Amino acid sequence: MTPGSTPAAGTAAPPLPHAIRRVRESGAEGPAPLYSHPEWAVAFPWLAQGTTGRGQATEPFDLGLFGESPIGPTLARWRALRESLEFPAAVHARQVHGADLVSHDTEPAPGLRITHGFDGHLTARGGLLLTVSVADCVPIFIVDADARRVALLHGGWRGTAAGIVARGIERMAGRDPARLHIHLGPAICGGCYEVGPEVHAALGLPVPTRNTPVDVRSVQAGQAVASGVAAERVTVSEHCTKCGSGFFSHRGGDAGRQMGVLGIRP
Ligand SMILES: [Zn+2]
Repeated sequence: MTPGSTPAAGTAAPPLPHAIRRVRESGAEGPAPLYSHPEWAVAFPWLAQGTTGRGQATEPFDLGLFGESPIGPTLARWRALRESLEFPAAVHARQVHGADLVSHDTEPAPGLRITHGFDGHLTARGGLLLTVSVADCVPIFIVDADARRVALLHGGWRGTAAGIVARGIERMAGRDPARLHIHLGPAICGGCYEVGPEVHAALGLPVPTRNTPVDVRSVQAGQAVASGVAAERVTVSEHCTKCGSGFFSHRGGDAGRQMGVLGIRP
């Protein structure tokens, strides 16, 4: 937020549709800090889900694979994450702020597999942890409990404008989106994310004359409902990566990255 502006200025995006609730992920201590959706933890015990935290100040839990951090300690943290969740395999992609998704349908090989050029992953395989890298962008969790299928998307403003939310819903549920559950995880809030008029235009919002905050998660929530997901099955994290604590924030000056993680337990 710039000096003089107020959090109320973050209402340029439409308010959350009526039945959409905010939830607060709770943090886990231990070798791999993970903030999990408290309702999903009860409703879907067969899932591993959440967003990693920034960890200790003296030893940040940076999982970014494409930044400046030495790769050895980063891969050790990845291993700690997989082992704490008891997942033999994980998949990650070098993200490009697009809307292309990849489905992982074959038996996963143990370890971490890295692909390129995707901003979303789908799977029905147990034991494969889907991951997306975020630090202000939104980790978007989609669950089909009946089919036991999951998707995890990376949604910044570009991917949101490119329709990644609708694409993920379509790939998950075809003509039956009402059965999906969606959660929009820790990300920069509608008070902190000041952007230019071109971003508002790209998101289909009223176009301001100067830089104005936008709530990307509110836009995504509206897109999910417009795509046919039941509003009462959509939740939005209370956490802001920038004005809150516990997470890396690109706008806040952090180089580190947390991971949204979602997988069907082995
Ligand atoms: Zn904020």
